[in-house]
Amino acid sequence: MLHAWKGTGSRLKPLSFTLIMTLVLAALPWGHSLYGQQYNGRGGRLQDFVSVAAADTFRIMVTDLKPADQVNFGLIKICINLHHGRTSDLKLTLVNPAGQAIWLSNRNGGETGRNYTETCFSRQGFFGYIHEGENPFNGDYLPDGRFDVLDEGPQPPNGEWQLIVQDLREEVTGILGSWNLYFGTIPSRTTDWCSTQEPDRCTLSEAQPDGALLPDLVMLPSFTRAQFIEYPPDHNTFPRQIKFAATIANIGFGPMETRGSGRWYCGEQAVANGASPCADGTLPRQEILQRIYYKQNGMINHRDTAAGTNYLDLKPGHNHFHVDDWVEYKLLRVTHSGEEEVVCAGEKVSYCLFDSGACQENDPLCAIGQVQYGPQNLPNYGFGRYVNCRDGIQGISVGGYDTYGSMYEGQSLTLPPGTVNGRYVLQITVDPNNQYRESDEDNNVLRMVFHLQKQQPTGEK
Ligand SMILES: [Zn+2]
Repeated sequence: MLHAWKGTGSRLKPLSFTLIMTLVLAALPWGHSLYGQQYNGRGGRLQDFVSVAAADTFRIMVTDLKPADQVNFGLIKICINLHHGRTSDLKLTLVNPAGQAIWLSNRNGGETGRNYTETCFSRQGFFGYIHEGENPFNGDYLPDGRFDVLDEGPQPPNGEWQLIVQDLREEVTGILGSWNLYFGTIPSRTTDWCSTQEPDRCTLSEAQPDGALLPDLVMLPSFTRAQFIEYPPDHNTFPRQIKFAATIANIGFGPMETRGSGRWYCGEQAVANGASPCADGTLPRQEILQRIYYKQNGMINHRDTAAGTNYLDLKPGHNHFHVDDWVEYKLLRVTHSGEEEVVCAGEKVSYCLFDSGACQENDPLCAIGQVQYGPQNLPNYGFGRYVNCRDGIQGISVGGYDTYGSMYEGQSLTLPPGTVNGRYVLQITVDPNNQYRESDEDNNVLRMVFHLQKQQPTGEK
C-alpha cells in the first residue's frame, strides 16, 4: 500500500498532503485513490487490574480528512505495538468519532501468550481472525468485532478516535508502545441485503413466500475445538478447570432480536431501573421481548412476544447487559458400557447478544458437519444489525455469530475432585430453557469429544 504521508504528530499537514495527493492522482489511470492517510498515536503505561477493571484511553484527533470520494472512504486499518506479559488479560476496543465501538481483540492469547507486535486489524485480515492467531500476532488480522460498524457516523470520519485498553486480570502489566490509524478508500457498502427497508430481498421459500422469519440458533464447533484448555488439580489459579470458547450463530430466516420492555423487577417487586442492587444483593431483572419479523404481502412486519430477562452484568470486562440463561455447559463421561453420565454441570450462563462476527462466503469457521453457512446458502443473510450490549436492543443477525472466548468469565467448568483422565463429551446448549422461538428447536446442542489428560490417572472405580 502506498502511504502519501507519514508523520510523527497526530495531525496531517494539509500542504504536503494536497501536493502528494495531486501527484498520486495524476499518476493513476482512472483517478482511483489508492493513497492512504496515516495518523500516529502515542502509547503509554497500562494500569493493572486491581479489584476493578482498569481502562486506559488513548486518543488520536483526526481533523484533516477531505476525501474526493466521501461515500467509500473510511478507516482501512489500525496497527498497534503493545507489550504485555499475558495478553489474555486485555480487551482492546476502538471507538470512532461518532461513538461506535468495536472489539479489536478480547482476551486473546491463551494462558501464557505475550505481546502484540506490529499487529494490524483490517477489513481483509489476511491472517484470519485475531482469536485464531498466536502471539505476538504479527500481521494483518480480522478483529473480534465487525469492522464495518466503524463506518457509521459522519463522513469523512474526522474527530476523536479512541483506543481503549482494559486489563481484566491482576498481576501482569504492560505498555502500549504506539498505534496508527490508516484511512483511505474502502470497499463499497453492501445495501442489497434483506431488511425491513428491502422486503423484496427477504424470502421464506418459493412455495411459501409469506410467514414468520424465525431465527435458528446453532453452536459453531470450530471455535470450541480451537479453544479448549485443561488445568491440572495443582494449578495455582484454575485447579481442575476446563475452559472453552462457545460461539452461537444464527442460520435462520430472520434475526434473533431481543428488546427491553422497560419493566424491571427485584423478584416480584417492580423497581425503577436496573442500576442499583436489590435487597438480597442480586441485580434487578428486566423482562425482555423477542421481536419476530413476518413477511406479509410484500412487507416486513413484526410482533413482540414475551421471552426471558436481562440484567446489568458487572463482572470485569463486561459492565453491560446480559441475557439470562443463554447457554448451559455439561461434561459427560462415557462409561465402559457406552452410557453417558453427567460429571459436572455449570450454572446457566448469561451473554450479551451481539454480532461479534459474521460468517463469510464459504467460511470454514461456520461449518457444521459438511455444511458451511454463509451468504451463499442463507437467503436472508445480513438481516439485523446488533452492535452493542445496552439494555434496549440486542441480537444476532442472520449469518452473524456471537463468540465467547475461553478466557472470558464463566467459560469454564470445575471438575469434581478425583476426576480421572479419559474420554469425555462437552455438551453446550444454547437457550436451554427454550424461551426463544426458532425455526428449528432441535439443533441447539453441540456435543464434542475431549480427552482429559491432566487429572488423576485412569483406574478401576
Ligand atoms: Zn458481557
